[in-house]
Amino acid sequence: MTPVRVPFFDLTAQHRLLGPEIRASLDRVLATGQFILGEEVEAFEAEFAKRCGVRFAVGVNSGTTALLIGLWALGVRPGDEVVTVSHTFVAIAEAIAFAGATPVFVEVEEARGTMDPAALAAAIGPRTRAIVPVHLYGHPADMDAILAVARARGIPVLEDACQAHGALYKGRPAGSLGEAACFSFYPSKNIGACGEAGAIVTDDGDIAEQARMLRDHGSRVKYRHSAIGLNGRMEAIQAAILRVKLRYLDAWNSRRRELAQRYDRLLTGVPGCQPVGESDSVRSSYYLYVVRVDERDAVRDALGREGIGTQIHYPIPIHRQDAFAGMGRHVGDLGVTDRLADEILSLPLYPELEDWAVQATVDGLRRSLR
Ligand SMILES: *Cc1c(COP(=O)(O)O)cnc(C)c1O
Repeated sequence: MTPVRVPFFDLTAQHRLLGPEIRASLDRVLATGQFILGEEVEAFEAEFAKRCGVRFAVGVNSGTTALLIGLWALGVRPGDEVVTVSHTFVAIAEAIAFAGATPVFVEVEEARGTMDPAALAAAIGPRTRAIVPVHLYGHPADMDAILAVARARGIPVLEDACQAHGALYKGRPAGSLGEAACFSFYPSKNIGACGEAGAIVTDDGDIAEQARMLRDHGSRVKYRHSAIGLNGRMEAIQAAILRVKLRYLDAWNSRRRELAQRYDRLLTGVPGCQPVGESDSVRSSYYLYVVRVDERDAVRDALGREGIGTQIHYPIPIHRQDAFAGMGRHVGDLGVTDRLADEILSLPLYPELEDWAVQATVDGLRRSLR
């Protein structure tokens, strides 16, 4: 076995650096004895909402919970349809199914893998209750075009911003563009908990109020339940850790961008390898650095033999997953979605990655492509 030279992802350096700050914040929470919601969560919510350029954030226990509660808060009910994409992580389709609604999958734009606004327009029907574009890899979807379609039909938009902490679309933060947005703080995300966490953000006081009630068993007053919710509450320990990490988000995203630009430069003119780049109107949060290559699986194996970690986000589109066989519908043949799933490869990218590792990855990629 070749030793791992460049791991796909590694949080240990980040936590070595942040250890003292995180331990201090844990001590603070231990001293209060308040582990679910409470002041620490409220403080994080205020800081995160501000960072997203909106009035409200509602802390929950995962990005998946944020999506489900977000859909509920927008009024999605059994029998409704929700339009989203198939080229993404499965969580949004699960959330739609748990809400009793039907996912309608539409095609993505070839250049970035985000929702194709023209395909969205063709997919809307009388039962469409919400639209969920995904800011995939940290690159915001084409929100002006998506919002134009949505507003013309009076349908709310829930941004899946689970990969887009700190990303900008025409200068505006991801999460401030639709009626509401969902974030995940899964450990590998641009800011991650030491465990599970997520948030719903919105400028709309009614949506925030609904989300707050639904994450706590549909209750505003203890033991009075006005709606069927669930236990979706954020833990104080995760909030305290996220408050520490939020202060580093800008610096970390800048470093991700620097590394991504280094990849871009080194990959220019490498035959058979096409980065999924950034469009002019956008500042990606570069959650992932993704390229398209022919013979992807062979290239990935060859890199693995050189000790370079890669992943595929995502290898099987949702409409082709066994769990969603016969569920929902898709509009068109989703040929671009299928093609991307066959060609995409995510290269190592995280703030602590060193410059030499980008060079080593590109060198390995060149050899693997021969
Ligand atoms: C991470 C992620 C989720 C799910 O978040 P969890 O916190 O793991 O539940 C949903 N959608 C997208 C696009 C994601 O990247």
